[in-house]
Amino acid sequence: MLQCTALTNIPEIQALVALTTMPGGPDNPPDTGMDGHALCELGEHDAQHTQHAARLRAVDTPATRDLWLFWTSTGRRHTHHLVELPKCPATLHHLTTGSRCPCTLYDHHPTPHSWHVTDPLRDLLVQQVLDAGTPTK
Ligand SMILES: [Zn+2]
Ligand SMILES: [Zn+2]
Repeated sequence: MLQCTALTNIPEIQALVALTTMPGGPDNPPDTGMDGHALCELGEHDAQHTQHAARLRAVDTPATRDLWLFWTSTGRRHTHHLVELPKCPATLHHLTTGSRCPCTLYDHHPTPHSWHVTDPLRDLLVQQVLDAGTPTK
């Protein structure tokens, strides 16, 4: 399944306020990760019935809850909601390698677990960065 391609501006002030005022959240606002743009992390979905969702950051350490930005768009207008949600408890176990791959989405997410969602563009970019970091001579 391909990843949803929706993009939004992170409402930075709203996000900082939400994070610092929630129980268990950090006392001081973090300086990174709360500005710029967010990409929907769900698999392709019906934008009419399912809101787009992007994980902004962990609320506590070790992280059991994350701050998620949900949004809907009508034309150029985006409506944002910030919600603190527990992590999805699912973990993919690779029986052959013994490695574990926890789902990165929130509990009761509407689309398949994160390991079923692929983003060909991101994979390509990551591969290019890796290739660029490897000396070719
Ligand atoms: Zn989406
Ligand atoms: Zn999941």
